[in-house]
Amino acid sequence: MDTIAAQATPPGNGGVGIIRISGSAAQTIAQSVLNKIPRTRFAEYLPFLDTDGETIDFGLAIFFKAPNSFTGEDVLELQGHGGQVVMDLLLKRVLDLGVRLAEPGEFSKRAFLNDKMDLAQAEAVSDLISASSTSAAKSALRSLNGEFSNTIHQLVEQVIELRMFVESAIDFAEEEIDFLDDDKLVARFSAIESQLKSVFHSAQQGVVLNEGMTVVILGQPNAGKSSLLNRLSRRDTAIVTDIAGTTRDVLREHVQLDGLPLHIVDTAGLRDQGDEVEREGMRRAWKEVAKSDRVLYLIDEQKGITGVDEKLLSEIPSSLPVTLLFNKIDFANRSPEIFSYNGYDAIRLSALSGSGMNLLSDHLKKVMGLDTTTEGIFSARRRHLDALERAVVSLELAKQQLVSSRAGELVAEELRLTQGALNEITGEFDNEDLLGRIFSSFCIGK
Ligand code: GDP
Repeated sequence: MDTIAAQATPPGNGGVGIIRISGSAAQTIAQSVLNKIPRTRFAEYLPFLDTDGETIDFGLAIFFKAPNSFTGEDVLELQGHGGQVVMDLLLKRVLDLGVRLAEPGEFSKRAFLNDKMDLAQAEAVSDLISASSTSAAKSALRSLNGEFSNTIHQLVEQVIELRMFVESAIDFAEEEIDFLDDDKLVARFSAIESQLKSVFHSAQQGVVLNEGMTVVILGQPNAGKSSLLNRLSRRDTAIVTDIAGTTRDVLREHVQLDGLPLHIVDTAGLRDQGDEVEREGMRRAWKEVAKSDRVLYLIDEQKGITGVDEKLLSEIPSSLPVTLLFNKIDFANRSPEIFSYNGYDAIRLSALSGSGMNLLSDHLKKVMGLDTTTEGIFSARRRHLDALERAVVSLELAKQQLVSSRAGELVAEELRLTQGALNEITGEFDNEDLLGRIFSSFCIGK
């Protein structure tokens, strides 16, 4: 593999800036730029030299000999003053020596390819960097430490044992039926199944911590949508007026609900009349609805649910959960409460006075599926959830085949699929495209 380099610290000015170089040419680079190869894993204060031997900067150089480095290759880190001009000069000097600029995530990709960590761990590196809350950072660290991967490995081991058992039963075709007709065997399937489901639950929580939930605020004009958005985000993003149809486009806010990312979309008021701009706003509103995780449907509590509300509610895809918010309770001096209305979760609140907003926050946290404690959660991605889901489905099919028809061949095939799905999580598969996609979302220098 060729040698790569990149600035590992963010662009701009800072106290320290780091250029990271990885690959077999790292020693040659050190010889040219530092006039020596620093002692392995010792920080040496040295001049960084340009082609003419002029000093570009003074800084710390650290050399990591393969395989004891982040990437598993020879790595040289040049820690200079974090000014962009200095960093650019230093990077250009290194690139001029025949090194290639690293692609986003390429250092992590090499770490993965050199078995320094598996795929789930490499992804956790990126998640830790982009964590938007303490809980998200903690869960990313847990995955980085290998907790998620270890759990997956243990499951894979158990699936392999089952496969060996089932496949050897097939080999002894005479006794196949007897082999497979065993309650203990079924119990082992069930045990793995319940472990898989519990891992899925933890991973799902990890995804929620990472990605958060998207909610769309819907309702008739003047129901108080903009006021609710402002109240949730605690700043004046939306224009609040009492002229119907003020919000014509789609507004977005990202807020933290006790550390959980919540993406809120405020839409144009939905009504039948209105000009072309407003109709376009409504088209966009429905598009946002389709992409969201939940709808917050606002109703003016003075007016109650009208025919228009009923029609709009019926147009929301049935798979999408809806929470009804009866707003403006301050008018009638009603108390906030959470209750059930025609099968919907409903909350009485006031976006203007803020009363009942705590009920809404608690409700959102609850429906996001996040337990009150975030202990034991590891960061995960939708890719992992998808793989876990497929593993559960195959395992269930395998169990069905076992119980209903003792069809050894079919059981074995489903178990093979279960194992394949689990292996995708830690990256024990051969798919350059998928790897490319995963690592390209990383930042440069990581
Ligand atoms: P939207 O058209 O649905 O976005 O509604 P707005 O947020 O623009 O609100 C319409 C009007 O209702 C404004 O005059 C708001 O001040 C008022 N309003 C919104 N929420 C409340 C509330 O909880 N109580 C009272 N009294 N007025 C509210």
